[in-house]
Amino acid sequence: MKTTVVNIVTPDGPVYDSEVSMVIVKTVTGEMGILPGHIPTVAPLAVSAVRLKKDNSMDVVAVSGGFVEIRPDKVTILTPSAEVADQIDIARAKEAVKRAESRLQSKQDDIDFKRAELSLKRAMNRINVKEGNI
Ligand code: ATP
Repeated sequence: MKTTVVNIVTPDGPVYDSEVSMVIVKTVTGEMGILPGHIPTVAPLAVSAVRLKKDNSMDVVAVSGGFVEIRPDKVTILTPSAEVADQIDIARAKEAVKRAESRLQSKQDDIDFKRAELSLKRAMNRINVKEGNI
């Protein structure tokens, strides 16, 4: 079976490095399935799950946006943060949801709503990836 190397990298370092047979990403304009030999492309990613298909298994990584760079033999994802499903701390993500929701419901003027919205998106994405709702 043909494979492609996938690297997922954050400012804190590499999070994922493996050979896979297909990568499914969610770009800001929609879902994209990437097979080995894909034409070179760069696309911005949504806060979303990256699915990495192997022979008999599938890895899932939560990413908080960033970019995917596709080359025929290599896929690189550069993202502000990424967690492989088993590394996700669900209690922490649920706390982050609570915090973001209370900020979004707050009537105070000094609340940064955009920031709270983005934090809510990241936390919901982590929960969905951990619980397999993708
Ligand atoms: P929190 O408010 O819980 O810190 P956050 O969305 O602000 O969440 P980020 O700034 O996106 O966190 O990430 C900071 C670091 O913490 C990154 O290395 C990220 O991978 C890690 N991280 C954040 N939330 C979780 C989680 N629920 N489980 C595991 N790692 C997490």
